Amino acid sequence: MFRLLKKITAVAFILVLSWQMLPAQKQKTFSAEGIQANKPKLVVGIVVDQMRYDYLFRYWSKYSETGFKKLVGEGFLLKNANYNYVPTYTGPGHACIYTGTTPAMNGIVSNEWYDRELKKDVYCVEDTTMHPLGTYSMSSRVSPNRLLTTTITDELRLSNNFQSKVIGVALKDRGAILPAGHTANAAYWFDKETAHWATSSFYMNELPNWVEEFNAKKMAAELMKEKWNTLLPIDQYVESTADDVRYEGLYAGETHPVFPHDLPAISLKDKDLIKRIPMGNTFTKDFAEAALKGEEMGKGSATDFLAVSFSSTDYVGHQFGINSIEVEDTYLRLDRDLSEFFEFLEKWVGHSNYLLFLTADHGAAGNVTFNTDEKIPSGFFDAKQVDSLLENYLQSVYGPGEFVSELTSHGIYLNQPLLEQKKIGLGDMEEKCAEFFSRMKGVAAAITAQQLKTGNYTEGLLSFIQKGFNGKRSPDVILSLDPSWMEWESKSGTTHGAAYSYDTHVPLLFYGWNIPHGQSSDPVSVTDVAPTVASLLNIEFPSGTTGKPVSALMNFYSK
Ligand code: ZN
Ligand code: ZN
Repeated sequence: MFRLLKKITAVAFILVLSWQMLPAQKQKTFSAEGIQANKPKLVVGIVVDQMRYDYLFRYWSKYSETGFKKLVGEGFLLKNANYNYVPTYTGPGHACIYTGTTPAMNGIVSNEWYDRELKKDVYCVEDTTMHPLGTYSMSSRVSPNRLLTTTITDELRLSNNFQSKVIGVALKDRGAILPAGHTANAAYWFDKETAHWATSSFYMNELPNWVEEFNAKKMAAELMKEKWNTLLPIDQYVESTADDVRYEGLYAGETHPVFPHDLPAISLKDKDLIKRIPMGNTFTKDFAEAALKGEEMGKGSATDFLAVSFSSTDYVGHQFGINSIEVEDTYLRLDRDLSEFFEFLEKWVGHSNYLLFLTADHGAAGNVTFNTDEKIPSGFFDAKQVDSLLENYLQSVYGPGEFVSELTSHGIYLNQPLLEQKKIGLGDMEEKCAEFFSRMKGVAAAITAQQLKTGNYTEGLLSFIQKGFNGKRSPDVILSLDPSWMEWESKSGTTHGAAYSYDTHVPLLFYGWNIPHGQSSDPVSVTDVAPTVASLLNIEFPSGTTGKPVSALMNFYSK
């Protein structure tokens, strides 16, 4: 009897013990050793150009179960991810995501900036020493030569003596080139002259066969064969303003911004149309899949990395604004494209074998006229008018001369050679300009390069400006407008670039390999994306990293 009792106790003890061990074992899949022991076959970085955080939930009821909802429902959502610098543009945004730092460090201070040595505007990925491949167009003479630090994709290549394959894909060249980094195997973008996917001699000497074959299908033309009608009956788009409103811009030849948009007719007038319609995202998704297949990505022993950016969301956003049915329909269609893409990835490498993240390079502002109609403070900054006012003012102080080389709503480049010639102190003129702007309606801050070089701003608008400031490339006086103010050029539709949440707050989702399900409202910076991916892969951080691994996510692995 005693022995039986002892046996029962022992069995019960073992049962209790094994029951206690269960959660511990379960946690072990997230443990540090677990991560070290294996790596994903593939990393997929997705950037949705101009995707505001609220688009994730604004259109929620109309998304499929297998697109955005799948990432939120099974992955890890950071609800409070923001950019921490200005200007919030495409080049800086893509650079930030992949370098883990801001323009101050990675050098991509804007899409274009005034080069003081060359005395002209330069484009962030322009490189006239390269030649185009897959097109004759000189606009494809591009490379990441102006990116000063390494990317997470570079670090992956460097971590294993270049065994990993890295490819960047986007309709916009900068959206493909900056994420792919300096050591990429390839980056591909859309060339409007040929309607082909193109690259440059920076990456290779000849297009691979699979790219030639893809181009031969003339898919862009195929995607524009029919009129663009809404995916769902138009009366269901209740989250958006009416179809015909004065806040929206027009396609070439249109008289009203209304559905259906006659793509076959418009495409005759606009060679770049595929970029400006949601079908551009389908085109990108299909090319991304072709890249995975053509290069056998995710099939080797090392982890490969595909960086894909969906650019059409930005073009549609600029033209129609954030409240338009066109933008809503573009996101519903992107959701379907993503769903197909995820299904492809599951089949190609298997569910637990790829690590995916999705974020955006910036958000977008409300249309100024819409805001004014709805009593939200906003206004226009007329750069041309301001330029001539400033020139007049400077001439009244310093005498005749063209003192301003360039002026935008983000800053002023002064004519430094003229200042030297006239023996006018640069710091002195910078201060005069800042004073001039500090009194101007719609200007929230005007700060001199001198102040940014010597001070240390840790909070608020000035810290955003400083993190976006690179001494050699940024303007001599930096401007930031008031909330919901923008340049006159963006009268219809919208734009972005500011330090306010509508431009800085973006979705950030991790999904797949070793990613637990969950969400967090802790503030994180987009500079945290690259160090988080580096930590998950156990590789070195990009050289200029100022972000840190997202602790809400990393805590799952240290429990
Ligand atoms: Zn963008
Ligand atoms: Zn944009």
